[in-house]
Amino acid sequence: MNIPMRPEQILRDVFGHSDFRGPQKQIVECLLEGRHALVIMPTGMGKSLCYQIPALCLAARFKRASNDPVPRAIATPTPLTIVLSPLIALMKDQVDGLRARNVAATYINSSLRRQERELRYQSLANGKFDLLYVTPERFRKPEFLAVLERRQIPLLAVDEAHCISEWGHDFRPDYTRVDEIRQRLDHPTTVALTATATPGVQRDIVQQLGLDREQPKVFHEGIDRPNLQLAVQSVWSDDEKLDHLLRLREQQPQRGIVYFTLIKTLLRFSDMLLERGVSHLVYHGELPRGVRKTLQERFMTESDSLVLATNAFGMGIDKEDIRFVLHADLPGSLESYYQEIGRAGRDGQPSECVLLYDQRDLATQMEFIQWSNPDADFYYRVFDLLVRDVEQIRAFGMDWLQEKIHHRNRHDHRLETALAMLERYGAIEGSLSPLDVRVMGPIPAPLQDAKRLAEKLRRDQEKLYALVRFAQHEGDRKAFLHEYFGLPYESSVDTLSE
Ligand code: ADP
Ligand code: MG
Repeated sequence: MNIPMRPEQILRDVFGHSDFRGPQKQIVECLLEGRHALVIMPTGMGKSLCYQIPALCLAARFKRASNDPVPRAIATPTPLTIVLSPLIALMKDQVDGLRARNVAATYINSSLRRQERELRYQSLANGKFDLLYVTPERFRKPEFLAVLERRQIPLLAVDEAHCISEWGHDFRPDYTRVDEIRQRLDHPTTVALTATATPGVQRDIVQQLGLDREQPKVFHEGIDRPNLQLAVQSVWSDDEKLDHLLRLREQQPQRGIVYFTLIKTLLRFSDMLLERGVSHLVYHGELPRGVRKTLQERFMTESDSLVLATNAFGMGIDKEDIRFVLHADLPGSLESYYQEIGRAGRDGQPSECVLLYDQRDLATQMEFIQWSNPDADFYYRVFDLLVRDVEQIRAFGMDWLQEKIHHRNRHDHRLETALAMLERYGAIEGSLSPLDVRVMGPIPAPLQDAKRLAEKLRRDQEKLYALVRFAQHEGDRKAFLHEYFGLPYESSVDTLSE
């Protein structure tokens, strides 16, 4: 059989694309030369191919070498590329997509039943699969590490690499162990990929991965999308917001997204739209998984669909012809704003991104920041209850805990944050909703470090402040964004226009 081996051949024969996009080719070559890379490239531009193609090249080279008539050492372990991603929800789709192209890919995460997981461990140990998707938490499991002993790992891709930075918007403690994982895996060539990273976060990524010692090549694609028009409108009431929404909808009767911060505001606007006979979809994180999936499919198939959504909407949305993204509320940071507007106009056609700025929305965001930054004492109280009152928690769950911690203030969401962080650090395991967890170890030291927690709070506040400055900015908004993300303005202008 003729296995494609060159990157161009794989691009064409396996993925069905005729040309590399932007810096893809250089990134693939860089990795095949064994050089580490940091890739910052807008969502939807094609970061996955940057590691998938090298993975297939490496596997093909190995297969060809093993077929050589010259005898090789018998037990040479076969190469396996590992892709780390925190997004369990996307792994299955990604792997299904690859398998449909006859790529030997698989994933292992907590969604698999034990039997299936063990089966995959077995196949991996036996040399099956060229590409493996896992969450970083997987490396806590000795069985998994034992499986990897049986393979050679020439390439490690760290996707959504901003999660490594504790100052980023989606910190994953296990990502900070990737440096250690790299040592265990015998220093694979490593590529870290993300859509957004400020210069501070970029430094953090490189350092946390232990790449600062080895000079990774940085590929920083411009964030300027010439076809996106960015606008900010100051508003003073919900009525004004509604007017803007209706007007935009009238001008753009095609596919569009309206983002809200709170579900209750979203539902209020949904009612107002229904009263005016404007049909639309409603998407938020409290809808059951199956419903969300159906909604997402409807959004993708109906060419005129309008969706009112919270930031839960968007992962895996790669529809090219989204004509507008309207932020009806102020988002929490320029990182999320940029991620969300990045979904508009992927086809290169003119698209509108409108941010409605009502100063009163600031209060909501400030409250969010408080909720997502419990102090050391709060973490301690929650952890202590989890340890001591196992019986009550088992019997009465979240309600009991909520009552104990917040008394009657149901409006306070610090408890959710505390539980999520304890879980991310591996101090508790199990289900957060409904609450059914086991305590696995002592309270994690970083959650008791008052100085560090205060610093995190300060950084979150600064991010919100940057967004406010952006909203009030009189000059070129794209220039503002470039400066924030540490990019030269002019030089990146045409990188995305192809
Ligand atoms: P990202 O991870 O950067 O958000 P993906 O890797 O998920 O982006 O790719 C987004 C889309 O772009 C996919 O549908 C993919 O097939 C497509 N794509 C990637 N590279 C190319 C290319 N060179 N030519 C055409 N389409 C591409
Ligand atoms: Mg991606």
